[in-house]
Amino acid sequence: MSAKELQKELLWETPHIAKEAPEQRAEAEAFCEGYKDFLNKGKTERECVKTAIAMLTGAGYREFDETVSYQPGDKVYWNNRGKALVAATFGTVGPEEGLRMNGAHIDSPRLDLKPNPLFEKGDIAYLKPHYYGGIRKYQWGTVPLAMHGVIGKKNGEIVEITLGENEGEPQFCVTDLLPHLAADQNARKLGEGLKGEELNIIIGSIPYMGEEDEKIKEPVKLMAMKLLNEKYGITEKDFTRAEIEMVPAYKAADIGLDRSLVGAYGQDDRVCAYTALMADMATKSPVHTTLTILADKEEIGSTGNTGLDSSFVLHIVEDICANQNANVRKTLRNSVCLSSDVNAAYDPTFASVYEERNASYINKGCVLTKYTGSRGKSGSNDASAETMTKVINLMDENGVYWQTGELGAVDVGGGGTIAKFVAEMDVDVVDLGVPILSMHAPFELASKLDVYNTYKAFCAFYK
Ligand code: MN
Ligand code: MN
Repeated sequence: MSAKELQKELLWETPHIAKEAPEQRAEAEAFCEGYKDFLNKGKTERECVKTAIAMLTGAGYREFDETVSYQPGDKVYWNNRGKALVAATFGTVGPEEGLRMNGAHIDSPRLDLKPNPLFEKGDIAYLKPHYYGGIRKYQWGTVPLAMHGVIGKKNGEIVEITLGENEGEPQFCVTDLLPHLAADQNARKLGEGLKGEELNIIIGSIPYMGEEDEKIKEPVKLMAMKLLNEKYGITEKDFTRAEIEMVPAYKAADIGLDRSLVGAYGQDDRVCAYTALMADMATKSPVHTTLTILADKEEIGSTGNTGLDSSFVLHIVEDICANQNANVRKTLRNSVCLSSDVNAAYDPTFASVYEERNASYINKGCVLTKYTGSRGKSGSNDASAETMTKVINLMDENGVYWQTGELGAVDVGGGGTIAKFVAEMDVDVVDLGVPILSMHAPFELASKLDVYNTYKAFCAFYK
């Protein structure tokens, strides 16, 4: 046997999709048009839930109704407080044979407003944020921001806000120093380039002038509040009843002359949310009942009752089991879950934080992450060989391009996903998702071929 033949038989290397399957480029290109649209429509978890429900109802899903006896192929969804969503397609075998679960998250790092955010300083009106999730604060200065969220009024009415997204709408911004005066700031550690309390968001600079020549203390703040009141009928006190998220105002774009990448805010983890949704919608008559989970609060530890460290998914599994006369414990024990989340794509500019043989790469397909965590795999789910075997074989049998990936080299850092919370329900789970460049930045990059192959992986998993 020649060395080349033996090499082919015994050794393994992940191929570059565009080299091995160039025909996928057009398919990926077309698939990502819908993906970019989803990113533009859903910049908060609430907006993602709304957009997803519109997609699901269009595809024949109905809100779960415990009085209906569901048949194979029936499609339902559960809306958890407008901030998390679960969709299911009933399988031809009962739940006790196991569910095919797939959990992505729809919250992304951002600047949340504090409960008392409005202030004036030096004749400028500002909003004060408290950042949400792991951001690199210095990246958020001089980025055009849009205002998204809800405000509760005294009468209980919830007012929805989206400002800065449509052509011609005003946007908002955090300032940074000019280089000429930045000598002291330049000497700071990068993590303190912009400090948490320096992320003040400009919302106005014109004072309110009364009818007489009256003097009030903060006329610019008053003017900003007047404009908000005219638009939304709110007063300053209403901010205490609000959830307002300041997010990058720009739209998703093609990156590169070859248009091979999508650049956008919030791809972690709406990329897995979109591909999972699309796969569930495309699944017509699955063997196992599917469960597509779009969770909130992953970026702050899956806390709260819309995050996966709560029992809401368990309760949904109980709904399904009650409806199908199945045992919940057996169902969970036999279920498999993909914890669908992004991983760090190898970045040649910052090569030293990766271990090259175990990093994920753009254009090599979806990334299967056996373990996350930090130091000695601390905080990791660490999927079993049996679970890896199941998922890898499924992908191989269905021609899905996939790769493995660690979140950086040993002891460089680390992170976690929803995987460990799913495992707490006694479900086999492994992380799978899309490699991302500049993860958690206001503008993240993903390869269209990887997005498309993640969709293909989910279709193979569900079918
Ligand atoms: Mn994520
Ligand atoms: Mn994240």
